[in-house]
Amino acid sequence: MTTLHTKDTIEAAIEMLYKDPNFLEELTDKRRRQTFNSAKEILTTTDKIVKSYIRVSRDEGGVVRIPAYRIQHNNIAGFYKGGIRFSPAVNESEMENLAFLMTIKNALHRLPFGGAKGGVAINASDYSDRELFRIARTYVQRFAPDLGPTHDIPAPDIGTNEKIMDWMVGEYKRIHPGKDYLGSFTGKSIDNGGAKGRREATGRGVYFSYAWLMDRGLPMLASEKVTKDLPVKQLETLDALQAKHKTEGSLRLAVQGFGNVGSVAALEAYQCDRVSNKVVAVSDVAVTLVNENGLDMPKLIEYQNKHGVLPDNPKKLADLGVEADVKAPKDIVTLDVDVLMLAAIENVITEANMKNILAPLIVEGANAPISQLADEYLTDQGTVIIPDILANAGGVTVSYLEWKQDRVTELYTEEEVNQEMRQHMADTFEEVYKSFFLGKPEYKSIRHTCYQQAIQRLVILLYRHGKLFSL
Ligand code: NAD
Repeated sequence: MTTLHTKDTIEAAIEMLYKDPNFLEELTDKRRRQTFNSAKEILTTTDKIVKSYIRVSRDEGGVVRIPAYRIQHNNIAGFYKGGIRFSPAVNESEMENLAFLMTIKNALHRLPFGGAKGGVAINASDYSDRELFRIARTYVQRFAPDLGPTHDIPAPDIGTNEKIMDWMVGEYKRIHPGKDYLGSFTGKSIDNGGAKGRREATGRGVYFSYAWLMDRGLPMLASEKVTKDLPVKQLETLDALQAKHKTEGSLRLAVQGFGNVGSVAALEAYQCDRVSNKVVAVSDVAVTLVNENGLDMPKLIEYQNKHGVLPDNPKKLADLGVEADVKAPKDIVTLDVDVLMLAAIENVITEANMKNILAPLIVEGANAPISQLADEYLTDQGTVIIPDILANAGGVTVSYLEWKQDRVTELYTEEEVNQEMRQHMADTFEEVYKSFFLGKPEYKSIRHTCYQQAIQRLVILLYRHGKLFSL
């Protein structure tokens, strides 16, 4: 999804609320039209875009100027919240779209945050630790007036991690002596006020979103009467998967991306909580590894932890004692598997390859990995897509717990963190799946249902806060 598509989806969601006479029924006629138009105006525009060319001295001498952003979409539901990524693909339009998605994701999961996103246009692996330290500090110096524990709270994303968050908190504290600083960033190290299990939270949540649907969602839906026609194809897809799980004893999974999100989701799948799985393929930016009998996940994780990448040739695989065929990175998305987890980057399924997608169930661990056209095409074919804003909220949910614990300085145990994250996400899953499969016939896909529920919350808040009135 691009910014344009996200805006279109928000507008369509607001229009649907406008046409529902039971929603904010006190609003009628011209006043109703004006109020909903105002909601469109506010939610399809961005509160603030800050761009700065940060100046960084290189180790070997010389200075480079690197584009850096912090984009705050909306804070009606709470303080701005969203990751900072270090990636060469960082640009204003992409950052803005990701900030929109954060507002919607937080509203969907009833987290008391708005939406923001930040980024620095570098390939982190081209920079030494000393250089990354200088980039992290300079980023905070440039954006300090727009950050803070009760204003805008960043977290790690692609190319950033707890070490970078720790450096950023240190700089934030130096700039604001005597002020509250611990909750200014989440995804910190545990020694520095981080939540236990935060690094793993997004990947765990991604796997949980699929396992919950198969293990709890389907029995829940089976016990209710499905009254509408629209998701019949999706129900048939899920029924077929459930039958396959029963007859073959497991489902075959492929996971694209083997970083923070993908490697953890793949390990969870390998450990088979709630559903029996065989992880038959994983990939990163350089390689796809395939083994029809299932990959040795602990060994691949060990290699990834040591080298930061997957082994990408037969010799490295043999040295590691892992059996796998080596294929091109992009091959993973078109493999004939039961479940495809996308945990790398945006737009990996588009018009160009959508007709070659074979997986009947796709889980979006990454943000916006499927283009709008491909999303519509696959949904029409009966593919079940668990969308990004539903599936990858484990990270921001645990970030919320981290932010909360930093305010009271009492640490949650990892078990409490996992339990609270799962309960929070399960409540949202139940609400969304019931609405999609059993609710209004206008809900076209799981993604559409998520948007509708999130936008409904945001419009109510805007209305109750008096933001939609003109004097
Ligand atoms: P990461 O940098 O740790 O890992 C990214 C992985 O994707 C790496 O294995 C990399 O090799 C691979 N990759 C990069 N470019 C690729 C390409 N062109 N083709 C195939 N693979 C490619 O990042 P991450 O934190 O795991 O984030 C992955 C996705 O999940 C991103 O879209 C991010 O926005 C989203 N996400 C992350 C979090 C979080 O808590 N980290 C939370 C929500 C969403």
